[in-house]
Amino acid sequence: MGQSMVAITEPDCTGCDLCITHCPFEALLPLAANPANRTHSKRPVVVVASQCVGCLSCIGSCPTGALHEVQTPLDASQSPLLLMPKPPVTETVNRWKKGGVKWA
Ligand code: SF4
Ligand code: SF4
Repeated sequence: MGQSMVAITEPDCTGCDLCITHCPFEALLPLAANPANRTHSKRPVVVVASQCVGCLSCIGSCPTGALHEVQTPLDASQSPLLLMPKPPVTETVNRWKKGGVKWA
């Protein structure tokens, strides 16, 4: 059995940012630019795979159901580090400094 983590169904993500503060590991961050083929006017949030520990704390925070559980690694004979895609270019979110959004 592989380990869990989350993925986001991008067309279902409105970019509302509600999930960001539900991740204690700062694995949910806004994409720096809105993809050209996207139908929503606001950029989506993405999962930074190298930060996600699969705690699933964030799953219930998405009002559109865009967050869902996935299993990793797909092949337990391979290290998850080998399966990690290049990290997305994301915006910075102030979580813990003065005025930060902190933890939901
Ligand atoms: S599963 Fe846990 S670590 Fe991964 S994005 Fe959700 S809250 Fe963060
Ligand atoms: S809560 Fe859902 S819709 Fe809102 S940014 Fe997160 S994944 Fe996207």
